[in-house]
Amino acid sequence: MEEFDVAVIGAGPAGSSTAYYAARSGLNVIIIDQRKAVGEPVQCGEFIPSTNEMKRIIPRVKDQSELFNIDDGLIKMKTEKIRFVSPKNRKYDIDFEGFTVDRRYFDKHLASKATDAGADLRTGTKFLSLDGNMVETDKGSIKAKVIVGADGFKSKVAESAGMQVEHVLCPCMLGQVSGDFEPIVEMFFGTIAPGGYAWVIPKGDGANVGLGIQKTGNVSLRNMLDKFLKVRGLGKIEQLSAGFVPISGPIPQTVKDNVMIVGDAAGQVMATNGGGIPISMICGRIAGNVIAQNFKDNTPLQKYEEEWRMNVGPELDNALDTKRMADKAFKRNWTLEMSMRLLGPDRMNRAVNCKPIFKK
Ligand SMILES: Cc1cc2nc3c(=O)[nH]c(=O)nc-3n(C[C@H](O)[C@H](O)[C@H](O)COP(=O)(O)OP(=O)(O)OC[C@H]3O[C@@H](n4cnc5c(N)ncnc54)[C@H](O)[C@@H]3O)c2cc1C
Repeated sequence: MEEFDVAVIGAGPAGSSTAYYAARSGLNVIIIDQRKAVGEPVQCGEFIPSTNEMKRIIPRVKDQSELFNIDDGLIKMKTEKIRFVSPKNRKYDIDFEGFTVDRRYFDKHLASKATDAGADLRTGTKFLSLDGNMVETDKGSIKAKVIVGADGFKSKVAESAGMQVEHVLCPCMLGQVSGDFEPIVEMFFGTIAPGGYAWVIPKGDGANVGLGIQKTGNVSLRNMLDKFLKVRGLGKIEQLSAGFVPISGPIPQTVKDNVMIVGDAAGQVMATNGGGIPISMICGRIAGNVIAQNFKDNTPLQKYEEEWRMNVGPELDNALDTKRMADKAFKRNWTLEMSMRLLGPDRMNRAVNCKPIFKK
């Protein structure tokens, strides 16, 4: 049977970042992913805040330039503003720099950083279960001293380890449209996307268009998306896909014995907007570095839990508070319209930056 120091389940931003930092310290790391091709299909808006914005959002995280040193070749388009659009089409612009990527290439790039550092990547390999150091996959068993669950919102690893896996989920549907778009990320609120928002995120040669909602019962995301495309004159959508964003904040425990949970699996997502790429990379770096220290001098794996909560916990909590407040206003178009007017761009800016919107 094959033996590894570390087995990482999931080659998304969280898993590949964890694997990179663990492998670069000389550990014997395997990453498995059930997908045949890393990053495909795209289930993401593909927007990432600039490093300067990330430093403003989460100033405690050190060396962000090193972490988010993204090759120009991976950037599809730089954006300058975020525009909030109310049900009555009132526009609120805030300055916010970011860029869009194509997750098919972005995720492959992160995975290849990990393999260049020595990690062994096996795609088309599904995690089934876990028992102590034994990892069962559909391609056989492997043994690892540390196991990392970076397997997304429906984490089988967390479930196998007996950790909480329940998240409140926001179902989304998205795709790509062609056309010319201003360098502005647009978010549309109201019954067009009940309890969530619809987006148009420019990518240079077109845009990523989609919506996420909070609604129970018999709703068709496809019909809602078609209506949004029609109302906004966005034309034909391609590469249609769907996904879920965990929006209930982090799970209570992310380390148990030799198992660590990272990224969406741990609920490390900004609840206000569903942004999880940079947070999962930050937490992945913390996880990989703590694993390296653990092998070097027996530093407890628990240090990961303490460090990520200290680094990104307050901002994730603020985002969750803002989301809970927004949920009340989101109930009807007129309350939403009024709330957006009352908030204005300054408080919206605070929400985007994961600051408490009613405290200075
Ligand atoms: C519609 C949508 C739009 C979004 N837009 C944005 C955005 O614009 N910006 C942003 O920052 N964030 C966005 N997010 C959130 C972002 O996509 C996630 O937060 C991010 O991908 C989390 O990374 P991760 O590595 O934790 O999980 P994932 O990227 O989900 O990776 C998990 C990996 O685990 C693998 N896996 C799962 N189960 C198993 C198994 N049993 N065995 C083996 N492998 C397994 C999967 O195949 C997958 O590759 C969006 C999410 C959705 C759904």
